[in-house]
Amino acid sequence: MHSAPRNIAIFGSTGSIGRNALEVVEAAQDRFRVAALSAHSRLDELVEQARRWQPDWIIATDPVAAARFAPPSDLAGQWLVGPEPLVEIAAHATIDTVVAAIVGSAGLPSTLAAIEAGKRIALANKETMVVAGELAVRRAAETGAEILPVDSEHSAIFQALRAGSVAEVKRILLTASGGPFRTWTTEQMEQATLDQALAHPNWSMGAKITIDSATMMNKALEVIEARWLFGIDAERIEVLVHPQSIVHSLVEYVDGNVLAQLGAPDMKIPIQYALTFPERAAGPTLPLDLCRIGSLTFEAPDYDRFPALRLGSEVARRGGTTGVVLNAANEIAVERFQRHEIRFTQIAQACRTILDAHDYEPQPTLETLMRLDSWAREETRKWTSV
Ligand code: NAD
Ligand code: MG
Repeated sequence: MHSAPRNIAIFGSTGSIGRNALEVVEAAQDRFRVAALSAHSRLDELVEQARRWQPDWIIATDPVAAARFAPPSDLAGQWLVGPEPLVEIAAHATIDTVVAAIVGSAGLPSTLAAIEAGKRIALANKETMVVAGELAVRRAAETGAEILPVDSEHSAIFQALRAGSVAEVKRILLTASGGPFRTWTTEQMEQATLDQALAHPNWSMGAKITIDSATMMNKALEVIEARWLFGIDAERIEVLVHPQSIVHSLVEYVDGNVLAQLGAPDMKIPIQYALTFPERAAGPTLPLDLCRIGSLTFEAPDYDRFPALRLGSEVARRGGTTGVVLNAANEIAVERFQRHEIRFTQIAQACRTILDAHDYEPQPTLETLMRLDSWAREETRKWTSV
């Protein structure tokens, strides 16, 4: 049986993962208490959530949005402004678990603070692992922090890895839906519009990860995430296209046994598992009806049509400063695509150019990572195709 409710901080509570996390808590209120919530710009929604959940802290991370917003006087919790309180609250003695659901490398400082403080982290913010995975995992081993994956593929791998040891793993097969352009030619993708890139066939997610799914950069980031999270070299991580998004990933052991995890495409399942692990609890998700789904299909990924995949394998292999540069270039390239400044296929092209142009270091400090993050952003803002 579980004991007293765990105090959880949900950073990025107004996002797709944040809202799903609150639905999980709603269904398991004996297990969890919401102690902190944060949002960047949707402050009306943050206030609504705070009224419902009565957290001790409510963090409005964007100072510009917060300056234009008057928080109501009847909120029980403390209203905090700017990104700095995230770091402080992540490490606060009363917090047990941090749900890292901020998008982009903006989620890095609070996730690292939670790791330093030895917390449980339900990690949705894969960018942390891409930018500083090696450092984060090393520090977590030293502080006793537990990093539990929320990404559905990594939750699947995490569960399948409980059947054997990392040394016994032959391959990890990371599944990918293939996104909205799975069957498109490169020429068609060159003309892809923002609306088309935002129309994911299986998952309802935030804009950035949805565009990343269309370029398959999301899978590239996930290969890198898996490399650090599970300590498995890049050569043993493969991508497998599975359009139905029911098999969330597989682990093949040296003896030929292959373990897969299946579930409805609903993020509440991996979020809840990260929160309740090692226990399992009844949850708010509908059961998986395989008879209705009928068939599950698999395809090899196409590295020529989706060049982002090649970047992912390369960065997972080289490590060092490559992750921070790829992530920063991609964040800016995606923003520029959203502003119609560059074409869809230029997202991966820009990332390739910036990655090749950077001064590689195999063992960077956090300071070097931060400097390269700024550098890669600046370069990608200026980038034009030749
Ligand atoms: P989203 O855009 O829906 O939500 C992002 C949240 O972060 C919002 O609450 C927003 O207020 C906050 N935020 C945005 N910019 C910020 C900043 N600069 N500083 C602080 N907070 C900021 O995104 P999402 O789809 O929920 O994804 C969140 C993270 O989870 C991403 O790293 C994504 O890759 C990962 N993830 C998401 C899904 C999914 O199904 N949505 C699945 C796997 C992994
Ligand atoms: Mg995923």
